[in-house]
Amino acid sequence: MSAVEELSCQELVELVTDYLEHALEPGDLRRSEEHIAACGKCTVYLRQMRQTIMVTGALPGGEISAEAEQQLLQVFSGWSST
Ligand SMILES: [Zn+2]
Repeated sequence: MSAVEELSCQELVELVTDYLEHALEPGDLRRSEEHIAACGKCTVYLRQMRQTIMVTGALPGGEISAEAEQQLLQVFSGWSST
């Protein structure tokens, strides 16, 4: 398989906010989804981001309260058990 324009993890991270807000261009969206599907690290990262949004009600980038952080840590710690 030889994708022409594969995203790097760095690029994915930069796009993930738009990805989660459904604000990506179709081309970027497709490349993001392809990268996520092929990259375990970014699959976990994306899941983390989604959990963060569920817990905090907003995209991270500002402050996360200590309480929300605690909840997040609990959510994240649950992953390794499966
Ligand atoms: Zn990646």
